Amino acid sequence: MTAETIDGKAFAATLRGKVGDQARAFEAAAGRQAGLAVVLVGEDPASQIYVRSKGKATLEAGMASFEHKLAADTPEAELLALVDALNADPAVDGILVQLPLPPHMNEAKVIATIDPDKDVDGFTVVNAGRLATGLHGFVPCTPLGCLMLLKDRLGDLAGLDAVVIGRSNIVGKPMAQLLLKESCTVTVAHSRTRDLADVVRRADIVVAAVGRPAMVTGDWLKPGATVIDVGINRVPGAEPGKTKLVGDVDFPSASTVAGAITPVPGGVGPMTIACLLRNTLVAAQRRAGVRGTEI
Ligand code: NAD
Repeated sequence: MTAETIDGKAFAATLRGKVGDQARAFEAAAGRQAGLAVVLVGEDPASQIYVRSKGKATLEAGMASFEHKLAADTPEAELLALVDALNADPAVDGILVQLPLPPHMNEAKVIATIDPDKDVDGFTVVNAGRLATGLHGFVPCTPLGCLMLLKDRLGDLAGLDAVVIGRSNIVGKPMAQLLLKESCTVTVAHSRTRDLADVVRRADIVVAAVGRPAMVTGDWLKPGATVIDVGINRVPGAEPGKTKLVGDVDFPSASTVAGAITPVPGGVGPMTIACLLRNTLVAAQRRAGVRGTEI
């Protein structure tokens, strides 16, 4: 069997187009653009790239982008005051504080300061609780993107066996909640799971969010399973001194057994920013009382 490759890049492009259409309609109805504020503390090179691409994508979707760059030695109180000011700013619908923060800052305290109705990353305890109890809130962008890809491929997920490998607050736990909400039978596996391969072999849906290159191999999979690879791992490339990105799933062996699989890069990655734009649009619509179409 050769698995179908799930084209997250194309799906994300379509999603961004839909968000852009609704962002224009929002502007016409509300008399202002939807707005996303991104806060970056310090000069971490990967974070700088993420923040730049989020800002660019926000503008491309017809929304306003507010970038706040603070020095690495900024006192925590100054960051908290900025978040408070963004909470109160009517032009700001979504607030994203780029993680990781410098070691002298308490990430949980900073996240808790974000107004849950502007928390488009879905990282606040309030939004985690809303997700767990079935209330409307904001769902973290990466698992939301994974769910969209799964529903696009499989339609109704009810009754399917899903195994999520990884239990982080950002990916694994919200992914499990989303699959449960879709009436899957969900198993969350992690670093202390026994006989992981046997657990994974039961799954119709496998979501790997571990951070270990090519850990899940084809012999771990049930034939025809749908595999979503969240992992982003940098490993040595073919040429000396060059690196390449690989996922948590061994694509060559997995694609001979799975029914469908996301590649790395070009699978889940592009969905994350597209879902951030989607969440920002929804935040704007809810705050302004403007109705949109569900996306
Ligand atoms: P994390 O380090 O917070 O969590 C990793 C999880 O994997 C933990 O819950 C741990 O229990 C589990 N784990 C570790 N070793 C294991 C093992 N041997 N067997 C089974 N489980 C094991 O990571 P995270 O933030 O959830 O991210 C996971 C991966 O997804 C990383 O590669 C990260 O770069 C990637 N990621 C990608 C995106 C994206 O946009 N595509 C977004 C977020 C994270």
